[in-house]
Amino acid sequence: MTRRPYIVGNWKMHGTRAMLSEARAIDRAAQRHMKVEVAIAPPYTLIHPIHREAEQIAVGAQDCHHEDGGAHTGDISGAMVADAGASFVILGHSERRTGHGESDALVRAKAGAAFAAGLRVILCCGESAATRESGKAVAFIKRQLKASLPAADQLPADIADRLTIAYEPIWAIGTGTPATADDIAEMHGVIRALLIDLLGAEQGAEVRILYGGSVKPDNAAAIFAVSEVGGALVGGASLTADSFMGIALAASEPFDG
Ligand code: PEP
Repeated sequence: MTRRPYIVGNWKMHGTRAMLSEARAIDRAAQRHMKVEVAIAPPYTLIHPIHREAEQIAVGAQDCHHEDGGAHTGDISGAMVADAGASFVILGHSERRTGHGESDALVRAKAGAAFAAGLRVILCCGESAATRESGKAVAFIKRQLKASLPAADQLPADIADRLTIAYEPIWAIGTGTPATADDIAEMHGVIRALLIDLLGAEQGAEVRILYGGSVKPDNAAAIFAVSEVGGALVGGASLTADSFMGIALAASEPFDG
């Protein structure tokens, strides 16, 4: 089965209520591109207001805690973001791994908690420039992904629908220069093989693998043409409806993913 392309905007720490008009514009445009699944992950403060108005797009969180509740000042749980209207959560983004020292073990615990809260999970992986230059990118991604995913017997039965992987090479994020088609094809092939190994042939083949790192309207079609690319996780270009939906438009053409 070929799944709909999945285009997800990560607003990071951008957006006050003034951005609600942009979310509305994205939602309206998404209703004209039903061949594409469009979602945004705004800051926590905007999850509920966007969810309340959205008719087409899904709304998600950019992180959640690995416990359901308790004495964790400033943290928020999967159950809480679900209660606010989030249907998915992005976990293991490189800005969390580096900026907040999140280990693979912590990301794995967060993924388990998010699944238990009924959320879908977008699990990010990506190597640094130094790792790529040392020729160890493939080994790094295999290890990082394996260590960040809960063990197979801890995963929900509908894992192919609940899990999405985002390959986001750190050196391509926010730089304006995405990875080359060859680099993306190689890494997405490696991730697909690993998913089949971990989840079995049927489920492992169904999980979507997004590419993230400087995706823009003018390079999106070329990226979506790469084998095993099931959509994109978009940072900077998701902040305006015009550029974000330009990417969704590129994804509405049939592509292999
Ligand atoms: C990201 O940080 O998830 C990302 C892909 O950012 P950008 O599109 O701005 O490179």
